[in-house]
Amino acid sequence: MAKAHYIIVLNMINNLISMILSKFTPWKTTLISSLPYETLPVDLASKLCTDANCIKTASSDFGKLVQETPSAVFYPSTNSDIARLVKSSYDSSSPFKIAARGNGHCVGGQAMAKDGVVVEMSSLNGNGRIRVSWSDSLGFYADVGGEQLWIDVLRTTMEQGLAPVSWTDYLYLTVGGTLSNAGISGQAFLHGPQITNVHEMDVITGKGDIMTCSKSLHSELFYGVLGGLGQFGIITRARIVLHKAPSRVKWVRMIYEDFGSFTKDQEHLISINNGPNYVEGSLIMKKNLANNWRSSFFSTLGESKVNSLASKHGIVYSLEVVKYYDEFNIQTVNEELEEMLKGLSFKNGFKFEKDVSFEDFLNRVRIEELKLQSKGLWDVPHPWLNLFVPKSRILDFNQHVFIDIVQKQNKSSGPFLVYPMNRKKWDGQMSAVIPDDNEDVFYSVGLLHSAGKIDNCKIIDDQNKEILEVCDEMGIKIKQYLPRYYKTKEEWMKQFGGKWNVFEERKAKYDPKMILSPGQRIFNFN
Ligand code: FAD
Repeated sequence: MAKAHYIIVLNMINNLISMILSKFTPWKTTLISSLPYETLPVDLASKLCTDANCIKTASSDFGKLVQETPSAVFYPSTNSDIARLVKSSYDSSSPFKIAARGNGHCVGGQAMAKDGVVVEMSSLNGNGRIRVSWSDSLGFYADVGGEQLWIDVLRTTMEQGLAPVSWTDYLYLTVGGTLSNAGISGQAFLHGPQITNVHEMDVITGKGDIMTCSKSLHSELFYGVLGGLGQFGIITRARIVLHKAPSRVKWVRMIYEDFGSFTKDQEHLISINNGPNYVEGSLIMKKNLANNWRSSFFSTLGESKVNSLASKHGIVYSLEVVKYYDEFNIQTVNEELEEMLKGLSFKNGFKFEKDVSFEDFLNRVRIEELKLQSKGLWDVPHPWLNLFVPKSRILDFNQHVFIDIVQKQNKSSGPFLVYPMNRKKWDGQMSAVIPDDNEDVFYSVGLLHSAGKIDNCKIIDDQNKEILEVCDEMGIKIKQYLPRYYKTKEEWMKQFGGKWNVFEERKAKYDPKMILSPGQRIFNFN
């Protein structure tokens, strides 16, 4: 923050000099006239940074695949600063593009704004931006700034013995960023994605209006923003559902040689009452070992056993299950776990268990991230492909994608995730897109590649495109999650399917000048 303030002060001086000069000259100074926001009030202009460092950060993201240079980066102090910035653009005869930047952890330039202004949401961070409350009608909930990281939401709510119920695998993502997508992890089968665990939001629309919305107040905006890829407004506050937090978790991994048995058991686990609190799964292959950045394997001995099995078969599947517990069921949790796993068809001798604190479990990726960071292996290109696959085609997907492409071509080390979710836990009125078929279950597939070198990046990107083509040819009606491969309006229409018309209508209503989140390339293709 200190650095940001320093930059703001420098920029303020720069801008003031430019403005004074422009008063005494018939022409505007180069700095002012080259930017799209010359009419901004001086107090807002002073929060813009055009310094090379600000621009560099805002021109990049976790993917390192796309680079788009904004004209400036905006460091708001209040929600109203953002509203006034958006309004200035909306009222201008030549509106400039604006993108909220959460933690820049998207992988395809979605938080960038070419020649426009990137709003650095972290600049809002301050005291009182995570508040826990209770009401008769809602129970416990937290009012959380859109810029907040989920790790901070976890830590603050845990101080009161509470926690949100639906998570992402990684917690250094912002509330506004994940709610713009869906926010999924192994709890989604039970509680739905993060977007279905929000009571209310404050949103700044593309007209610069600050609106509070919920299922009963401005519901059109509420449903539009959730999973809306930043197209209708900037989330400055979300009211999140909280439950009592468990203190510890029993964490189990079971290895399968057969994909059919693996998915059958996953589907069984997500269907039982009082079953697991978390279910995920992943592929283990020669190059994609049991130990990876998504979370280290439980023991070196177990790890080498699993890796040699993968080496023998070419590919094996790891089913990951978690049961939460606290002082109330500490005596019975082992029995509950045993009962839950009874009758599953994992390979004999290939069940591995661990007992960790709730917080360590949720924050499992961070530990691995820090290890990779220290080796310089985190800050590399990430040509990810995230898909939702209909349940009825998941066996075909295994054969034609996991085995025939990912395993045979052996181009990257993953991790590669595959786990099921229950359709009924999603709300069809929200913008988030899931497979069209009316099946009760669909799968989330995450091919989370890291690419060492740029040419490797192109090779993996080509593989991703091949996967999309194969799905098309085979009639596997996937939907992209965190979509980044669409280049035309027709492709977006196909992605949204029956939701496209509503999506377009909502855009016309809340962001008619198409100012917000241009980096998604839904309404702006250049
Ligand atoms: P950004 O990348 O900065 O922004 C993403 C989009 O949201 C942009 O279009 C931006 O303009 C818009 N946006 C940002 N803030 C706001 C706001 N306040 N209001 C409106 N729009 C906004 N996702 C999952 O669902 N599950 C996972 O398990 C998961 N694991 C991940 C692990 C890692 C290591 C990484 C890097 C990402 C993971 N993601 C996961 C993806 C993540 O949800 C996306 O990257 C998402 O974009 C959130 O990142 P962010 O908060 O940095 O938002």
